[in-house]
Order: sequence, then C-alpha cells, then structure tokens
Amino acid sequence: MYCICCKKDNVLTLLYGEEKVSEEDYIWVEEERVGVKGKVNLRNTNSRMWDNGIVHIIDAGYGSSHDTDQYVIAICDDCIAAQVAEGNLLYYGNYMSKYGVKELVSESKKIFKRKKNLDNFTEETNAYRRQIKVPSLYRTD
Ligand SMILES: [Zn+2]
Repeated sequence: MYCICCKKDNVLTLLYGEEKVSEEDYIWVEEERVGVKGKVNLRNTNSRMWDNGIVHIIDAGYGSSHDTDQYVIAICDDCIAAQVAEGNLLYYGNYMSKYGVKELVSESKKIFKRKKNLDNFTEETNAYRRQIKVPSLYRTD
C-alpha cells in the first residue's frame, strides 16, 4: 500500500500461513469473527500482518464531514519515526506489552505540547505584529 506521507508503495502484504491473494483482496478481506480461547476477535485488515509499516482501518466520528465513513490508511516505518519525532503522529501505547510504554507516551505528549505551544506562540506573536503593523519581513506568517 502507498504510505500516506512519502507516497511510496512500500507497506507490503505479509502472508503468514495464508494462501496468496492479491493486495486488493488482502486489504478488503471479508470480515470474519474468529474465536480464540473463548474470546471473539474480528478478522479484517486491522488484524493482518504488514511488512514495513502500519495499515489500519480508521473511522470518522460525528463532527467530521465524513462521519461514519471508514478508510484504510498506510504509513511506512520510516515515516512513523519521523512523524512521531515531529509530533504529527502521537504514540498511544502497545497492545502487547506495557514495558516502556509510559515513557514513550510521556515523550510523545511532551513533543505534542511543545509543537502546540510553539504554534500558538508564533500565531500570537504574528497576530500582535500584524496589529502593530510590523512589516511581514519580521513575521513568520
Ligand atoms: Zn512513508
């Protein structure tokens, strides 16, 4: 699948004990409820393995002009690292382990807050400079 950031077709299907299918069939797999040890899981694109990145179905909630629509999105491993470092992609957790998660969430929050505060500061500064009619040469907007 194409990465949403770098636009490269570099997030690839990873078949593991499954018969070979087209990438299209791999993405739009017929959803199936699968029971494992008394727990029922939904088998779809989200539960499939992908090489070199994340592929996931995202849902638009109420408030979006796309509300209730679902999309499949891919982001490659390199772009995940770069976007987390820039605060555009936020670390949320690990569904397999709690080891080191608290620290990674804390770091992601710090980057997020720094970016928001910097954006707010530059916007406020620019608004102030516009108000007092400072030439655009000295503004960042
Ligand atoms: Zn990428």
